[in-house]
Amino acid sequence: MELGLKGKRALITAASRGLGRASALALAGEGARIAVAARNPEAARGFLDELRDAGAEQADVVHIDLADRDTLASGVDQAAEKLGGLDIFVGNTGGPEAAPFLGVKREGWEAALGESLLPLVDLTHAVLPYMRESQWGRIVYITTVGVKIVQPNMVLSDSIRLAVVGMAKSLSIEFAHEGIMVNCLCPGPFATDRMEYLVNSSVEQQGLSRADAEKLWLNEVPVGKFGDPADFGAFVALLSSERAGFVTGTAIALDGGKSRAY
Ligand code: NAD
Repeated sequence: MELGLKGKRALITAASRGLGRASALALAGEGARIAVAARNPEAARGFLDELRDAGAEQADVVHIDLADRDTLASGVDQAAEKLGGLDIFVGNTGGPEAAPFLGVKREGWEAALGESLLPLVDLTHAVLPYMRESQWGRIVYITTVGVKIVQPNMVLSDSIRLAVVGMAKSLSIEFAHEGIMVNCLCPGPFATDRMEYLVNSSVEQQGLSRADAEKLWLNEVPVGKFGDPADFGAFVALLSSERAGFVTGTAIALDGGKSRAY
C-alpha cells in the first residue's frame, strides 16, 4: 500500500526512546522528512543516522524539553524551518508517575499536567498554523489504554490522557474542513523503558516478585505478551498518511485486546 508519506514533514516529540522512537523510525521507513524533538539534542544525533538509514529523506533534531515551556513553540518553529514546513505532528510525552489517588499530592498533579497535557496544548498551537497554511495535516497523540479501561495505580495517567482525548476530539471537529485529521493512539503494554518502570513500580508498591508483576500487567491482555514498539510505529505511520484522510476524532486502542469496551 502506498501511504503517500514520501517527503512529508513530521515532528515527533519525546522521540529518543520507546514508542516515540519507533514512530519516528516507521515514518522514516516511508521516506518522510523527520524532526525528532529531544531534551538533549546532542545525544540524539546518532539516532539521526538510523533514521536516514531507515529511509528518511531528511533527519534533524530540535531541542524540546516538555517540562520547559520556553522550548515548545521555539522547537516547533525550528523544526518547520529545518524541514520547510510541517505536515505531521506526533505528540508524545513521558508518562506520569504511577500511584494511587492518595499517593499523589497537588504538586504531583501539577507536575503531570505540566509534562503530559499542557505541552501538547502549546505544541498544538504552534504546529497548527503550518498545517493550516497547506490545508493538510495529521496530528497523532500517544495516550494510553487507560482512557478505555481504568488501570490500578494509574490515576494521573488515566485522568490526564482523558483530557488529551477530549482535546483531540474538539480539534478534530474544528479543523477537519481544513484537511487536518486529529487522532489518539492508546497503547496497552508495549516493551519499552516505561513498561520496565511500571513493572518495577508493581514490585515495589505491591511487594510482588518480578515474574508476578509482569503477569499482573499481562493477565488482562488476551494476546498474552508485551507489544512490539515497531508495530506501534507502523500504526502511527498509517494514521499520519494520505490514507487516513477520512479518520479523525478517534482514540484507537493498540492493546492486545486488553480493553474490553466497544
Ligand atoms: P519511555 O519511557 O520508553 O520513553 C519516553 C520518552 O519520553 C523518552 O524518550 C524520554 O526521553 C521522553 N521524555 C520524558 N520526559 C521528557 C521531557 N520532559 N521532555 C522531552 N522528552 C521527555 O515511554 P514509552 O513507553 O515510549 O511511552 C510513551 C508514552 O506512551 C508515554 O506517555 C506513556 O505513558 C504512554 N504509554 C506507554 C505504554 C507502554 O506500555 N509502553 C502504555 C501506555 C501508555
